[in-house]
Amino acid sequence: MKHLYIHIPFCQRRCAYCDFNTYANMDDRIEAYVVALCAELGLLAETVSPAPPASAEAASLRPTIFIGGGTPTMLSLGQMERVLLAASAIVPLEGAEVSSEANPGTVLRRDYLRGLRQLGVNRLSMGVQSLHDPTLRILGRIHSADEARRSYLEAREVGFDNVNLDFIFGLPGQSQTQWEATLAEIVTWQVDHVSLYALILEEQTPLYAQVTAGRGSLPDDDATAAMYEAAMGRFADAGYVQYEISNFAREEGLREHRDLPDIPSRACAHNLAYWLNSDYLAAGAGAYGHITSGGSPHRYYDTLGIDAYIAAMGAGRRPLAEIIPLSAVDIRAETMLMGLRLNVGVGADHFAARCGAALEDVYGPQITELIGQGLIERAPGRVRLTPRGRMLGNQVFLRFL
Ligand code: SF4
Repeated sequence: MKHLYIHIPFCQRRCAYCDFNTYANMDDRIEAYVVALCAELGLLAETVSPAPPASAEAASLRPTIFIGGGTPTMLSLGQMERVLLAASAIVPLEGAEVSSEANPGTVLRRDYLRGLRQLGVNRLSMGVQSLHDPTLRILGRIHSADEARRSYLEAREVGFDNVNLDFIFGLPGQSQTQWEATLAEIVTWQVDHVSLYALILEEQTPLYAQVTAGRGSLPDDDATAAMYEAAMGRFADAGYVQYEISNFAREEGLREHRDLPDIPSRACAHNLAYWLNSDYLAAGAGAYGHITSGGSPHRYYDTLGIDAYIAAMGAGRRPLAEIIPLSAVDIRAETMLMGLRLNVGVGADHFAARCGAALEDVYGPQITELIGQGLIERAPGRVRLTPRGRMLGNQVFLRFL
């Protein structure tokens, strides 16, 4: 298998907006979880045979391992080493993009960062979210803006030459001026890759309860759209290539994604695999995988709870929560929904190889209609969102469901 996602579901504290499968105050389970996770990785290495890449575009991606969460940097270096060793039986580390998410509040120690780098992690993805301390407090983050700055500098100093920073906009109380000050600072950091997400207020989160109770208000849709436009302008001026709705990267070093036009060299290969609707394995509580075995494509996810996950692996069972078979119609829709997120859009050759049918035969009427509405456009051998379509992505995606 060429791509692997590993989920670490521990956090020091739950952020007020988070609805991921992650748990606070369960640090005493970390060691047992690592044992179970390594066992699941071993089981996957033995039992799942890799399917060939679905298209030339997918084949051009380098292999990837992505350790996400939660907060992977709550693992000790010894635990991280065991996880990577088990993962390497599925995706050899040599030549792979090996990413780990990191919370700036947990990676301030230089020796930890250096150790991660020495273990083979070659891409760090730091959740900074904001450089405005009052906002960070509202979000319930465990770090200040200054700690995020220091963590980033430490990561650079120990040799991480491929770093992503995550930010959120459309936050409670956030003004355009405040957001533009954040953007102005980020571009001076010369980070390799930036992911920007508009806040999604999820029910069941403390932030949702606060906002619906009238304690804090969010910028309206127009103000949030203005923040997104300001970000696109600022990163373009600073030389970044926006290659996906939420993602910007620098063009630096060797271009690896050779069969994908206009994808910058610092683009995240692991996320490109998702956007090309490629197969990937996943391990860990609540982790989602997408594989084709015996010619049958399916998604699966592992049991959500940490104790249930540990217990299943302890009993020698694969900790599957559900297997969701995917029909040909599902695969076609997914290929469009994921691929149109990329600024290069969906290649006709890629679609045909992934779906076994010609793009125009399957979606000709929808494409013609959306072109008429100015939401998508044709490029040689491809269809892609227009800048207006990027602002109204959900409206476009619905047409392919
Ligand atoms: S650190 Fe990330 S995963 Fe953990 S609670 Fe906060 S947003 Fe969620």
